[in-house]
Amino acid sequence: MNCSCCNRHIKHPYHWDGKVYGKQCWIKHCLPELEAIRAQQDDERLQKRIITSRIYQEVFKQKKVRGIKNEFKLKFIPSIINQVKKGRMLSNKQMDLCSRMFNDKDYRLYFTLRVQSGLDDPVTHLMNGQLTPDDLEITNEEAAKLVITYREIPATPEAIGSTINEHEWSL
Ligand SMILES: [Zn+2]
Repeated sequence: MNCSCCNRHIKHPYHWDGKVYGKQCWIKHCLPELEAIRAQQDDERLQKRIITSRIYQEVFKQKKVRGIKNEFKLKFIPSIINQVKKGRMLSNKQMDLCSRMFNDKDYRLYFTLRVQSGLDDPVTHLMNGQLTPDDLEITNEEAAKLVITYREIPATPEAIGSTINEHEWSL
């Protein structure tokens, strides 16, 4: 077996893109490509986390807090809105807590915004009954802004840091 790059005989083949390479050629030619793909995937994950944080913020902004008596919730909701406003993403734990405070109306807005932002496929939500066609026709100013800014949000070091240093929240 010969390296598809330098044609030298190889004992231990490395595979990439349907071809075989010797170790040195693989490191030189294939690894940078592999790393570029990984970096792009990381960037996409980051973008998704940023937009999801903004969706939680938007749902909480529209949530009617008048009926809420629980003191933790009354503090938590504005703190989430504020954190995202400052450009810091939410941790998984925070997102989980947000979801647990959602009522049916909040969930509909949440899924609608996910669809409008391009994170979710509308068909899935329509099929499992999480959204109706009427929900998807909601044209709200904030949702429109969210869609437009999806690709424009910069991944600031601060935003990245907030996923590493997860905030501790207790109910
Ligand atoms: Zn080679």
